[in-house]
Amino acid sequence: MSTTFDPRPFLKVDKKKIYKVAHARKVTDAQLDAFFAQVRKAPRHCWLWTGEKRFFTKDGLPLFPTCPPGPARLDVTVPTAHRTSYAWFRGMLLPYRGADGLPLSKLVQLCGNRACVNPAHLKQVRIKDKDVVPKTAAHEGLILSQITYEEDGFRVAPADAPTACWRWRGKVNAQGYPYVDLPGLGRRAVDEITFDWFVGYPIGKSWIDYQLYHRCRHKACVNPKHFELVPFGRRKLMDRPGYVESPQLDAALTEKGV
Ligand SMILES: [Zn+2]
Ligand SMILES: [Zn+2]
Repeated sequence: MSTTFDPRPFLKVDKKKIYKVAHARKVTDAQLDAFFAQVRKAPRHCWLWTGEKRFFTKDGLPLFPTCPPGPARLDVTVPTAHRTSYAWFRGMLLPYRGADGLPLSKLVQLCGNRACVNPAHLKQVRIKDKDVVPKTAAHEGLILSQITYEEDGFRVAPADAPTACWRWRGKVNAQGYPYVDLPGLGRRAVDEITFDWFVGYPIGKSWIDYQLYHRCRHKACVNPKHFELVPFGRRKLMDRPGYVESPQLDAALTEKGV
């Protein structure tokens, strides 16, 4: 069998070819029928996972707890539908967690749709150690203790500050952006950490290609609600006085990966 993935059967939904690929990986017809009973075709070839609330994680990832038994059933307590799809139709699923319990790999939906299980839309990425900031009480305490909450220059209680700036009182880098030295993990950008904790790691995007622009224009602010994910390199342009938003510039920056 060829090792390169041919997306055509999955875009045209050529059931015969799709089942053939899966049969070669010991997936049974009962499993495939149960899987496709929960799939609804959507625009741009997305395969949307459907069903009750229990078939989704709280952040919208598809779950497949009703997968019938068989050698190809994922050997985990609760198999997610997109990981199942990747294993059945593409193979070579990396372990989700390493021996140390930290995430090792993840699947991203390149279409941006977290409920999509089309294997042609899934990309497997290795999580580098540096991308992982576990939300431990110690880390949380270290970071939250260096924030004051301010609305129009006046301090407010955290509970009253959903829209206030979270002003970082710790160290900042040469450009004025907050960083923190986390024991055992090294130097990290605080805006990326609060964004990851309170909004969620951006699916399909990585900090290599993207950065956070502080909409409130306070570099020392780490309130994730004030952030916008922008292509890497654009933040310093946006900080210039008189910056005008331009779709052409966006496209050019994204293409060049600046
Ligand atoms: Zn999709
Ligand atoms: Zn702010």
